[in-house]
Amino acid sequence: MKLDGKDTKVFELMRRELDREEYSLILIASENYVNEDVLATQGCVLTNKYAEGYPSKRYYSGCAYLDEIESIAIERAKVLFGVDHANVQPHSGSSANMAVFYAALERGDTVLGMDIAHGGHLTHGARPSFSGKWYRAVSYAVSAENEMLDYDEIRSIARKERPKLIIAGASAYSKIIDFAKFREIADEVGAYLMADIAHIAGLVAAGLHPSPAGYAHFITTTTHKTLRGPRGGLVMCNADLAKKIDSAVFPGIQGGPLMHVIAAKAVALGEAMTEEFREYQRQIIANAKHMAKCMADLGFRIVSGGTDNHLFLVDLTPKNVTGNEAQIALEASGIMVNKNLIPFDTKTPGVTSGIRLGTPAITTRGMKEREMEIICEMIDAVLKRPGDRSFMDSTRARVREMCKSFPFYSRIYDI
Ligand code: PLP
Repeated sequence: MKLDGKDTKVFELMRRELDREEYSLILIASENYVNEDVLATQGCVLTNKYAEGYPSKRYYSGCAYLDEIESIAIERAKVLFGVDHANVQPHSGSSANMAVFYAALERGDTVLGMDIAHGGHLTHGARPSFSGKWYRAVSYAVSAENEMLDYDEIRSIARKERPKLIIAGASAYSKIIDFAKFREIADEVGAYLMADIAHIAGLVAAGLHPSPAGYAHFITTTTHKTLRGPRGGLVMCNADLAKKIDSAVFPGIQGGPLMHVIAAKAVALGEAMTEEFREYQRQIIANAKHMAKCMADLGFRIVSGGTDNHLFLVDLTPKNVTGNEAQIALEASGIMVNKNLIPFDTKTPGVTSGIRLGTPAITTRGMKEREMEIICEMIDAVLKRPGDRSFMDSTRARVREMCKSFPFYSRIYDI
């Protein structure tokens, strides 16, 4: 298949992006490669249709097929995550989180979430986000001792601040999250518990991370990270909160749903129910654990000492290079990572002492433990000489060759 269209300017840029994705090592923990069915579903005629409302309760005519598609997505989400109710309409993870705030809180109410500097997400109460602007946001951090969540500390903050909503979940935390403990704390202070499983949704679906179902009042997620679906959001809850959540999503914060994306979510959720998907998730974790060990063996410091999931943070301080320098040098070498603050970082968010590495995308391509070793060696070699242009060029050529052995989109597109 050719990636070709009348708008040559845009199509040429799309072609280059396709080339970049195919021939780079994507270690950005929040990214993945969707397969051809999900890709095709997202680029289909469903994008044409307005369908404000919900299945059988639409404000437009001609929604019969869309009702069926959305119902399939809802049913699959309910079965996969073991919940009473699912709303598949949020356009993104941030919209899913906003819907929970809209459903559960009044402006000015107190929310308790993980500090963004310690791994939380913007929508967990950070100042520039609606969550920190319109609500009284307080935060918990990881322990200085072991860089893990300290539930006694979270409990004591909750007792003091009396939040109406507690958020469990993170963008950069490599250890298991104890949702049962979070619920205990929420019950003690009379708060709702929201579990944001955006990063770990695939692991939860595969039973490889404890599920928040049965503990959290609300579960939110993105559909595009470990879950390997289209870019989008999903919010789930118990039956008693279903009405509140549905009216928070529409008409509360959104208008017409993106039906092509909802169809792609249905396809991805279907895939996530297979044994093959479970095996994929198992390999993601095995790869991340192996990669963290290899990086430690090469003299890098791994935040919290290792990983239980698909990602980990690398403290670059022992190597005398900043996260920003590392991101730039590695990108020029065909290795995509993101700079990341480490807990108690002394550098600014634009500089950082660390990088975040994740294995969902390279595992989708079929890479295993042996490839993790090669990648770590390449990262180490580049970071030993971050200004050496010709070394970065030769590494990029090596990366390209390696990617050719694990073809992904080149199986369906002429690249
Ligand atoms: N929640 C968490 C924990 C995330 O990591 C992210 C995205 O990185 C989001 C929510 C927001 O997702 P989106 O970028 O789709 O708004």
